[in-house]
Amino acid sequence: MFSKILIANRGEIACRVAATAQRMGIRTVAVYSEADADARHVAACDEAVPIGPAAARDSYLRGDTIIAAALATGAQAIHPGYGFLSENEDFARACAEAGLVFIGPPVGAIHAMGSKSEAKRVMEEADVPLVPGYHGERQDVEFLREQADRIGYPVLLKASAGGGGKGMRVVERHEDFADALKSCKREAIASFGDDRVLVEKYLTRPRHIEIQVFADTLGNCVYLFERDCSVQRRHQKVLEEAPAPGMTQERRRAMGEAAVAAARAVGYVGAGTVEFIANQDGSFYFMEMNTRLQVEHPVTEMITGTDLVEWQLRVAAGQPLPKRQDELTIHGHALEARIYAENPEKGFLPSIGRLRHLRTPAAVHFTTPPAPETGGIVRIDSGVREGDAISPFYDPMIAKLIVWGQDRAAALALMAQALADYQIVGLASNVAFLRRLVLSRPFSDADLDTGLIVRYHDDLFPPPRPVPLPVVALATVAILAGERRAERDVWASTRGWRMNAALARVLEFGADDGDVRVTVTYGDDGWRLACAEAIEHVRLSACAGRDFTLRVGHAVVRGTVVRDGSVLHVWWQGEHVVLDYRDPMVHAGEAEAKGGRLTAPMPGKIVALLVERNQQVQKGAPLLIMEAMKMEHTIAAPSDGLVEDLLYAVGDQVADGAQLLAFKAA
Ligand code: ADP
Ligand code: ADP
Ligand code: MG
Repeated sequence: MFSKILIANRGEIACRVAATAQRMGIRTVAVYSEADADARHVAACDEAVPIGPAAARDSYLRGDTIIAAALATGAQAIHPGYGFLSENEDFARACAEAGLVFIGPPVGAIHAMGSKSEAKRVMEEADVPLVPGYHGERQDVEFLREQADRIGYPVLLKASAGGGGKGMRVVERHEDFADALKSCKREAIASFGDDRVLVEKYLTRPRHIEIQVFADTLGNCVYLFERDCSVQRRHQKVLEEAPAPGMTQERRRAMGEAAVAAARAVGYVGAGTVEFIANQDGSFYFMEMNTRLQVEHPVTEMITGTDLVEWQLRVAAGQPLPKRQDELTIHGHALEARIYAENPEKGFLPSIGRLRHLRTPAAVHFTTPPAPETGGIVRIDSGVREGDAISPFYDPMIAKLIVWGQDRAAALALMAQALADYQIVGLASNVAFLRRLVLSRPFSDADLDTGLIVRYHDDLFPPPRPVPLPVVALATVAILAGERRAERDVWASTRGWRMNAALARVLEFGADDGDVRVTVTYGDDGWRLACAEAIEHVRLSACAGRDFTLRVGHAVVRGTVVRDGSVLHVWWQGEHVVLDYRDPMVHAGEAEAKGGRLTAPMPGKIVALLVERNQQVQKGAPLLIMEAMKMEHTIAAPSDGLVEDLLYAVGDQVADGAQLLAFKAA
């Protein structure tokens, strides 16, 4: 076994690999960019080497620098994690040439599966079922559109070299094909340096079911069952679970064997995932193979009682697989939720900022096989701590929340509770959305398909509700308690008491649903709060830091309140309510320049200008495209009007909130 490995990644996966290596007595070397000097993964390893500026192409994608770091520190092997260099065959080859073990499959297997088109050709030969489509060499518009016409709309365009949902375009009609192709190719060349595409029939209401495979250098190859990753937004996974609801033994074996056949067809070694797209009737087609450890591997670990990173290390060191197929069984049910810095209400737009407050549910980290008598397990794989920033340079994933229960219902209940206990302040996150999703009828009924989020949009994005009285009480008491702490003398003196008692004071909060006015009357034993029609007597029973216990009338109310400037974050019964406190002491001008300005929703790069100076446009017309956080964002005209000026050129980098063009509404 190795005595030292280098982890060529960052964030949660780097921390996760380090944890297993350390458990096995292997020393770890971290690499870090300038943006990550104080990152959690650096602290998690035994040694750390700087590898360059923040941009991934200048650091985490610099194979040469990383190999030099491994040689300089005496590491014998490199674990690439996922993303970055994990599926880069040149890097795998360079490792071997430098005498280092690449903890991943052989170069030939990465190559064969690296192109979705090439992979489909190989699978066709191995008799693995494929979605109808075209994955050949010809790339001219007319020809590809003919293929689409033949396959029948809707079709899906994919970058052959693609991954991470990038470049994918659904085309509904013949007329839209050329534009979609152009946009797919633009994103493909920008993301992968290769603009070849393939065309597939776009299945309606499919499920994404994938099989974890593992092979060693001695010719053994097993499958560790399936994961259902159907719950997606923008073709990217949001919730993953294992086993897949409704899976029969026969189909599990058929898919497992097809996946092993796929792995064997390319001489696979190590951890890999064969992704299938399945119809509701259970028929399935090969989609692609990911030649690395997958983000969602923990759900497989939880149900099989394995540590897949340990398996990777053993296989890379030439040892046999720890288990044979007949020794692998499924135990209980596991769910994973990807906690992202993003704003679900704004089309899941990534968000950046500092985690000014971060509280996670009580968790058991990296547990090995859960004992049958265990009620449940909560695991958090995370690469950040309170105070850390989510920067625009990398993937906006904050953490993975993984739970295990005896069955799906138990796992689901545990997940809902863990999400209720997950508190984030400082940037937009999808925690509240995930909780609604987990509790939604289609998800709890396991009525799964990749369109679930879109189809149940209205249920998943309910209109803002009036702020519940307990939340108002918590916010009010937090403010009063804060003042009391700040002016302890005044509070302690009878003068202050009498003065307050004489006054009814009004507090105002801004909420999603409108303003909330509370009239507070001080009494001997707490306060009287009058809010809308309700009048309640409120008493503070206990307060520990940000956690409050109140008596509101006869009810006991427990919650957490975090104040962030004028904004109060209140967590109560699993809900996170954000209130803007209109502090009468602060008379800051809140003039928000609205309308007319078309600003960058986040820092990014201009990739296309679709209008010219002095051009008249109609409402909704696309004006320019910017790329930020690995996605394209189209900026559209807010109304009919005139483009007076373009303020940036293609290729320019723009800051968050920067005005992009001068626009005059008609
Ligand atoms: P990536 O490399 O981005 O992971 P995939 O080919 O694995 O690309 O597809 C990602 C997702 O896109 C799938 O999980 C599924 O939701 C959707 N998808 C892919 N192919 C099809 C298809 N032919 N029909 C319908 N949905 C598809
Ligand atoms: P999966 O099917 O496992 O979600 P993806 O193809 O979406 O795999 O990519 C794997 C993961 O790698 C992504 O979720 C993302 O977190 C990470 N990743 C990919 N590219 C980058 C990158 N350039 N920077 C940071 N993280 C990346
Ligand atoms: Mg995929």
